[in-house]
Amino acid sequence: MLLSITTRYRPATDLGYLVHKNPSSHYTTEIAFGHVHVVYPEASEECCTVSVLVDVDPISLVRTHRGAMVNEFALSQYVNDRPYATSSLMSVALSKVFGTAMAGRSKERPNLVDTPIPLEVSLPVTPCRGGARLVRRIFEPLGYLVGADAIPLDPRFPDWGDSRYMDVTLSAEVTLKSLLTHLYVLLPVLDDDKHYWVGSEEIEKLIHRAGDWLVGHPERELITRRYLRHDRQLTSEALSRLMEDDTADSGAPEPCQSVDEASIEGPINLKQQRIDAVLEIIRANGARRILDLGCGEGRLLAELLREPGIEQVVGLDVSHRVLEQAAKRLYLDTMAPRQRSRVELLQGSITYRDSRLVGFDAAAVIEVIEHLDRSRLDAFERMIFAYARPSTVIITTPNSEYNVRFLNLPAGEFRHRDHRFEWTRSEFADWCQQVAHRRDYSVTMSGIGSGDPEFGSPTQMAVFTR
Ligand code: SAH
Repeated sequence: MLLSITTRYRPATDLGYLVHKNPSSHYTTEIAFGHVHVVYPEASEECCTVSVLVDVDPISLVRTHRGAMVNEFALSQYVNDRPYATSSLMSVALSKVFGTAMAGRSKERPNLVDTPIPLEVSLPVTPCRGGARLVRRIFEPLGYLVGADAIPLDPRFPDWGDSRYMDVTLSAEVTLKSLLTHLYVLLPVLDDDKHYWVGSEEIEKLIHRAGDWLVGHPERELITRRYLRHDRQLTSEALSRLMEDDTADSGAPEPCQSVDEASIEGPINLKQQRIDAVLEIIRANGARRILDLGCGEGRLLAELLREPGIEQVVGLDVSHRVLEQAAKRLYLDTMAPRQRSRVELLQGSITYRDSRLVGFDAAAVIEVIEHLDRSRLDAFERMIFAYARPSTVIITTPNSEYNVRFLNLPAGEFRHRDHRFEWTRSEFADWCQQVAHRRDYSVTMSGIGSGDPEFGSPTQMAVFTR
């Protein structure tokens, strides 16, 4: 079975540094069910392809999975699609030969590890239960352009129809480590092969590899169920762990315990000032249907509900825990029915398209983007400015220049331990202007909180309108 990854990033041969394999040589290693070869069919400045060829030995495969397959039809243990089809065995091979790349380490190109680069994956024979639609449902939300062509059973006899195998290509601007973890988790999900036994350690693997992107994925249930081979108990345990953990990139900063940001910014009560600034814009634009993306414990939602002109408010957050706090703060349980019908809380991620987020006048994204990995910022941009497209988008984020004025914040540190970046005024303005230009919005920049002549305001705000 074969998998190839191609890049046209310049110099393309840097791919070799990311996967820790020299493009001018051939690498082979042994695994429990055969051999894995890593070769470079092409390696030039302009284009570099690394291919992983897994040479499955059916005899070793039977030995490794003995016990799980005893009831199988005897010959099928030896004569099956496993040597040819890109399945969970490929995931095992990937973690063996690209384990360091998957963990995001590169001695020679440390900066490239976190840089999204153009990558294309070719999976010429991929077993897919659910066909092309399923491949799209699984990979498109992660930002991939998907090609999936069914392979006929026999091209000489078109009447026989298609096989369950697809020729799949995936392309995206993505970090190599994300791409590898996506493949590691999702190839077995496409295959949906139930042949072998899974144990609770598979939950750990899933959370370790996918904790940061699976929680907000619209197909997280299907992915988890299939990954855990339809084991009901493991699936429900994994899903509740995923939702509770809200680990790493999902960006849930445990608002109750996260004293850092509030205590740093607290003396000037920036939280309230941000809400006031956002409310003012919403009022001035006459917006009636409002999204609060990354709504946290729902302070803005509570204030919006007090405004008589507002028809509907929807709060979205990736963290189950903060949504529970928001529900409490709003007294959702005991709200009068008319008031209740004006508000909705949704769990999801701002980096995924979600049809429930379409049709709004304004979206507020207050102090949220800095919780996203830089590589997921493009996905957020596409979701809000290309897909949901509210008339007004209000984004606030810390102004990193102002940090020197916070006496209790050590130099060079972020205001919150979950922040992935904090931007200067010119960095934020550059990003906003590029987004506005790409997505046909206009944008105005301003500050919130009393400004410092040299460093500006503590919070920066961008208001996009179309
Ligand atoms: N807007 C609120 C909360 C800011 S804290 C306020 O101003 O008070 C950041 C919030 O963003 C957290 O509640 C966190 O759970 C949420 N968040 C982080 N990453 C997210 C993502 N990818 N999608 C949705 N919400 C996210």
